[in-house]
Amino acid sequence: MLRLAIQKSGRLSDDSLNLIRECGISFINSSLKLKTACTNFPLEILFLRDDDIPGYVADGVADIGIVGQNVLVEEGKQELTVEALGFSKCRLSLAVPKSADYNSISDLNGKNIATSYPNLLQAFLDEQGVQAHIHTISGSVEIAPSIGLAEAICDIVSSGSTLISNGLKEVERVFKSEAVLIANQELPQEKREILEKLLFRVHAVQRARKAKYILLNSPDDKIEEISQLLPSIKAPTVLPLAEEGWSSIHSVVNEDDFWEIIEKIKAAGAQGILVVPIEKMIV
Ligand code: ATP
Ligand code: ZN
Repeated sequence: MLRLAIQKSGRLSDDSLNLIRECGISFINSSLKLKTACTNFPLEILFLRDDDIPGYVADGVADIGIVGQNVLVEEGKQELTVEALGFSKCRLSLAVPKSADYNSISDLNGKNIATSYPNLLQAFLDEQGVQAHIHTISGSVEIAPSIGLAEAICDIVSSGSTLISNGLKEVERVFKSEAVLIANQELPQEKREILEKLLFRVHAVQRARKAKYILLNSPDDKIEEISQLLPSIKAPTVLPLAEEGWSSIHSVVNEDDFWEIIEKIKAAGAQGILVVPIEKMIV
């Protein structure tokens, strides 16, 4: 049995649970429970505060965990990282009041900066050769300037709308973060094997998220040209249509190149293009 620690309630919770579900792992989720055993995979899920997850994984209370890199690195436990998971993307940024006259990072010399991430901030200031006073507070960092606690803040930003609504502007990016899977470094063989199985499924889910299945109709004399425009795992599948002179081509395309490919194959004569999501992808 492998013990996975995830955030009980917060910005990491839904995506963490969805990833487990998409791996085909079932469990009963009750918001009152602190742990739950999965019914069809040797996994037990512990629901914890995100800040406690790196410590519990390092100590072996949990075997693996899902946490933001910002918390992991702040706690000095980045050596537990197994791999990045691609969700909960955000950044840790410095912000000052909108009206402040800010030209460069050296303007922060001698200033007070409020944050919940003193270690990440200190490392950044050292790197930039800036000396400032860091005030560590555990929440509501964005109100610190308006109550006179600090001239600047260093906090998590994703769209920036929270900063704007508090009359602040982002001036420096300190750290880029996303959710990561972490693991205890001394897992016994039996647990490592379960982790390998879980990772196999996670990779299939992640690959599928980026990939789309594409079906299109092509005049027979354009099959060659269109096939060359389509990347695929091996070669695209070509099936004859009931209508003489036409074929159906099936392939897999990456979301990033998707629109560019569609434009090209359309120009080459493709018709009836269908694009469908892929649930799992094992190569
Ligand atoms: P807890 O009560 O578990 O301590 P918390 O208040 O510290 O929760 P959340 O606000 O739920 O934490 O954020 C958890 C993690 O999600 C952050 O550490 C960060 O990695 C990521 N995160 C935070 N804000 C955002 C955002 N706006 N967009 C995307 N990811 C975010
Ligand atoms: Zn937290």
